[in-house]
Amino acid sequence: MGQGRMGGGGAGPGGECVCQACGYREPHQQGQPCNQKKCPKCGQIMTRG
Ligand SMILES: [Zn+2]
Repeated sequence: MGQGRMGGGGAGPGGECVCQACGYREPHQQGQPCNQKKCPKCGQIMTRG
């Protein structure tokens, strides 16, 4: 096993941003780091999930 690629599909290519406060998730957008986004539900900074 020498491959680091996970062939999955489902979520976007960049993964998801997750709010650890309330559990809200949304697809990660390229060029927009999760930790610069705020959760629309509770206003907390989101992290990468
Ligand atoms: Zn939240």
